[in-house]
Amino acid sequence: MSDEYPIHMGSQVDKAAEYCTYCPRLCRFSCPIAEVEHREGTTPWGLMRLLEYARQGTVEFDDQVSEMFYHCTGCGRCQSVCKHDIDVPRAVWKARSLGFEAGSSPEPLHGFISFFKTETIPHRQVTTLDPKRVEDVFDSDANVAFFPDCETRRYRPDLVFRIGEALEIVLGDKVHLSTRLGGEGKGCCGFPLGSAGDVESMKTHCADLQYDHLGFDTIYTDCASFYALGVDDKFGTKVETDLVYLPQFFSESLDKKHIQAPVTLDGSFLHDSCFATRHAGSADGTRTLLSLIADDEFLEFSSNREDAPCCGGASHYHVIAEKFSEQCASDRVDQLKREGGNKMVTACQTCVKQLGRVGAEVDPLLSLVCDAMGIKKVEE
Ligand code: SF4
Ligand code: SF4
Repeated sequence: MSDEYPIHMGSQVDKAAEYCTYCPRLCRFSCPIAEVEHREGTTPWGLMRLLEYARQGTVEFDDQVSEMFYHCTGCGRCQSVCKHDIDVPRAVWKARSLGFEAGSSPEPLHGFISFFKTETIPHRQVTTLDPKRVEDVFDSDANVAFFPDCETRRYRPDLVFRIGEALEIVLGDKVHLSTRLGGEGKGCCGFPLGSAGDVESMKTHCADLQYDHLGFDTIYTDCASFYALGVDDKFGTKVETDLVYLPQFFSESLDKKHIQAPVTLDGSFLHDSCFATRHAGSADGTRTLLSLIADDEFLEFSSNREDAPCCGGASHYHVIAEKFSEQCASDRVDQLKREGGNKMVTACQTCVKQLGRVGAEVDPLLSLVCDAMGIKKVEE
């Protein structure tokens, strides 16, 4: 490995940049961003070649160079086809942090970090959870906690309560709700901060969150990004708290006695989300859970599990390149139609939102779980 280069990015990233530079671009066709943008610079190889130039000191992290590393969702599909198991998301997140440290941040993200630090969520509109219902469904003194995905809280607040009820049914006791309430607590795991390049702020946010969670026996979450932060440090920090990913938990702990009204999937295709599947490793659990709660079979895409294409919605790509991001989602919807389907189910709320942007009908898996358990929806 070339140690004489002026910039060192850690041994894994240095090695990755060097390997990719001499590779015949074998992962080219796995990348959803390269597929929609049609430019060599945004292939995994193109990003890694640019990183190698930065490592050599041939290019600097100016605005133009830094912005290129936002043309990646961190989906990890390239890694799943790479014969060398090169961790491109790790390298790309390192590049984002170096760009941020050099003072370069893409224009669409300006103001994002200061907003996030104030509200601890990525959404400009804050969703208030009904305090009476919080008191009814959750127990602030419980020794296990549920940390909801900020997307669930923002777009499906009713589901936050229904998941709380589902956990009580399975565990036999109410759980504590860990989120931002009354200006206290954290509403998001912090992943969006690191994705915006501010890894130091993400580390602080995650350390504070871990401190908040000290004393709990278990933290349950439906957020695959949070869970991914507990798997390894590829996105800039590793969360040390023991996390339990809810689709996996329900797949192992639900049985027939919990199912009051099996759902009918009626030809739904299962969309494997990148973070739930490649980063959180829940492909089997998701399938077990669906089979348990439904009275008919779900359908499989011809590209599924670790080979499932990204919907384009993660890691700020939608604000960086809105049209291309939605093209990724449309490509998945086109595939759905080609393969004879008209709706999908997925474990990930980011995928639900992104695929919904292009008009797809998508059921959130945990919403179906609550339906099957007989947990009623409340109009919001
Ligand atoms: S990630 Fe693997 S397949 Fe892709 S360019 Fe790098 S070494 Fe080649
Ligand atoms: S992680 Fe996904 S979006 Fe990023 S380079 Fe690899 S395949 Fe492309």
